[in-house]
Amino acid sequence: MAKVLAVLYPDPVNGYPPKYARDSIPKITHYPDGSTVPDPEGIDFTPGELLGSVSGELGLRKYLESHGHQLVVTSDKEGPNSVFEKELPTADVVISQPFWPAYLTADLIAKAKNLKLAITAGIGSDHVDLNAANEHNITVAEVTYSNSISVAESDVMQVLALVRNFIPAHEIVTEGGWNIADAASRSYDLEGMTVGVVAAGRIGRAVLERLKPFDVKLIYTQRHQLPEDVEKQLGATFVPDVKDLAKVVDVAVLCAPLHAQTYHMFDDDLIATMKRGAYIVNDSRGKLVDRDAIVRALKSGHLAGYSGDVWYPQPAPADHPWRTMPNQAMIPHMSGTSLSAQARYAAGTREILEDFFENKPIRPAYLIAKGGQLAGVGAKSYTVKKGEETPGSGEKE
Ligand code: NDP
Repeated sequence: MAKVLAVLYPDPVNGYPPKYARDSIPKITHYPDGSTVPDPEGIDFTPGELLGSVSGELGLRKYLESHGHQLVVTSDKEGPNSVFEKELPTADVVISQPFWPAYLTADLIAKAKNLKLAITAGIGSDHVDLNAANEHNITVAEVTYSNSISVAESDVMQVLALVRNFIPAHEIVTEGGWNIADAASRSYDLEGMTVGVVAAGRIGRAVLERLKPFDVKLIYTQRHQLPEDVEKQLGATFVPDVKDLAKVVDVAVLCAPLHAQTYHMFDDDLIATMKRGAYIVNDSRGKLVDRDAIVRALKSGHLAGYSGDVWYPQPAPADHPWRTMPNQAMIPHMSGTSLSAQARYAAGTREILEDFFENKPIRPAYLIAKGGQLAGVGAKSYTVKKGEETPGSGEKE
């Protein structure tokens, strides 16, 4: 019997279950690269239900208990008296979502003597200290591709929201106003602008594909250049360094995972090289940018806007400066937890658990670390060189 500890975000303030806006969600069988969506032996939820909050339990209770396992679900995750930290030393499996991350720091991993598997229900395992996980031979897995398109859609929405000045214009209406000049004086067309995507992985490529019909100039950077035919299809030009991208873009869309090489990529120095009036959209990880450099650039007017759903820490404290900085379109971390995405990553979590308990190999596409080293997609996306540890799971802002 195993103890599975799931750290999930709190239920809706008006209670669970919520009233749903739609009766169903479209059925998706394959991802754009042809790989299949999660395929567990069964699911005990209706796709479209709220699964990521405490009462949703990722739809796992029936399956786990019928196999004799124990499921502990909590949203209480901060500090030594939290349910998470109290239950962790006896947990075999920890599940958490990046939206409400259970930060598995080296200290906590050292105390988690039984821990064998850490699942990210979603994508992005930077909340786990991957070096410590490797030292303790803990398998880390995530549900690759489950919400990549969800995030790409949100990225495109936020690019348009910033450039068109949508949110301030909407607020004018809800406040009873009608000042067209106020609404229009920060509103531009995206057409003709240069948009640069940092990291053309699953999300970044989907952003490029979705922006192409807007008749923008598309550029991208990452460590490996895409094949020529893919670049042609995307209509995107490779630039070898983020510095080359920063100085020419009107809009930068950040789609890279957080690791030592991407930590604070957009700092005062890099932002200073951007055009006055550039925009940044970041749904990837808060620490890809220097928090205070963003605030400074928005206040000075050097940046025209910043939008994103990723913060550090999460949940963001009430006095987090990004809540009140000017010209921002911040939202809570939610791009990747649409009800559509939840159905996929809950099924993917179940698939990973089934494989783990039945001693079957976990899909390589889901593996981040295994057997003391980075594995599967993790070996491509992350770096854990000694002395270059990802600061993601640590306290450093
Ligand atoms: P992928 O693994 O498909 O893509 C990651 C890309 O990052 C790769 O193309 C890689 O290319 C590039 N990359 C890695 N290191 C660097 C670097 N140093 N500089 C530039 N590019 C780099 O992941 P996804 O697209 O699916 O997801 C990306 C990230 O998005 C996740 O790690 C997560 O942090 C975030 N995310 C956010 C969500 C949300 O709800 N807001 C939900 C899901 C994901 P190369 O190796 O050539 O550099």
